Amino acid sequence: MEVHVNQIEKRSWIEIDLAQLKSNYLIYKKHLKTDADIMAVIKADAYGHGDVQVARMLSWCGCHLFAVSNIDEAVGLREAGIQGEILLLGYSSPYYAKTLFDYDLTQAIVSEDYAEALASTPFMVKCQFAIDTGMNRIGLDADDSEGCEQIIRKYYKKLNVNGMFTHLCVADTNDDESRAFTWGQINKFKAVADRIADLNLPYIHCCNSAAGLHYLDNSDTFSGIGSIVRLGIILFGLQPDPSFALPEGIAPAIAWKSAISQVKDVMPGETIGYGRTYKVEHKSRIATVTTGYADGLNRHLSNKGHVLIRGHQAPIVGRICMDQTLVDVTDIPGVRMGDRVVVLGRDGDLVYSADDMAADLGTIGYEVLCTMSKRVQRFYVSSNSSL
Ligand SMILES: *Cc1c(COP(=O)(O)O)cnc(C)c1O
Repeated sequence: MEVHVNQIEKRSWIEIDLAQLKSNYLIYKKHLKTDADIMAVIKADAYGHGDVQVARMLSWCGCHLFAVSNIDEAVGLREAGIQGEILLLGYSSPYYAKTLFDYDLTQAIVSEDYAEALASTPFMVKCQFAIDTGMNRIGLDADDSEGCEQIIRKYYKKLNVNGMFTHLCVADTNDDESRAFTWGQINKFKAVADRIADLNLPYIHCCNSAAGLHYLDNSDTFSGIGSIVRLGIILFGLQPDPSFALPEGIAPAIAWKSAISQVKDVMPGETIGYGRTYKVEHKSRIATVTTGYADGLNRHLSNKGHVLIRGHQAPIVGRICMDQTLVDVTDIPGVRMGDRVVVLGRDGDLVYSADDMAADLGTIGYEVLCTMSKRVQRFYVSSNSSL
């Protein structure tokens, strides 16, 4: 839904700035040392941003490569009219071979057994081999590059093989051991790619957001394996790792907002919320926020996190409830019913980002984005008029 921000009066909602996402995409591309194509990783509903809207915006920007996690996401994009390549990064039951074929989707081949199962269906499914270079998640074992070659050649004719990829599992971590491991992964992948170079597969790729910026260059190492970067988290303006500095101008595009339903004084000795986990020591102003854990506000933030109100931090007090959360507004003047609450995003000079919330939770920004619940309606706004 495209609306003016001031028209939004919800219990809990998310505003997504498509112009910021577009900037993130363009700035990221500009910072690459090569002219690699971007494959936009828009799994998990584009990390919570709405996959169809994000794919449409990126299509306008010329992006024609997309990656998702599963067949429902892929079919949803096709049914919304998204064209170009759509790669499924993970397993789909061979039962879906016809769907994969009918929707012109590209399936990751996770193992030799899986290749055989897909090849046994009547459908020439488009696919890319996953190559395991050390993550031990999915793919053919790159330690046996000859074996990889044989399997790829074997299925090259039985399936519509158009590429292969690997995943670099510590490319976001900048220490000597991680860098050595990542170069090892890249070299193993390169060894497989060199063996099948004659097949001229168009889609051979290994870089995620972090590797695109910290590894990819025009050296021989990347020739034949570096023409595509799978851009995920940095598109959404978050850091792959807290130590990973983002290029200037890349920023989160999400603002998660809510409202205050009630404000009241609570006296010393009283307790707040379920389980009575917060005991009031001094007379306090307590506000009720209309967002809870069913909206994706992680319950582990109880007595720990904060929200932003009138440009100030309001600490969460007591346990987060399913649909409501209590916050201390004693030190914030004038708070009243109907006030805006920023659960994630900017309020005046203060910012509380998904990365900040992740730090409070001991998790990663990726998880914060992906767990904002579907019931929190998304609205698309633009910070500038260029879109
Ligand atoms: C999720 C995913 C990505 C994107 O990773 P980011 O760190 O978000 O850039 C790339 N490749 C694969 C295989 C993935 O599963």
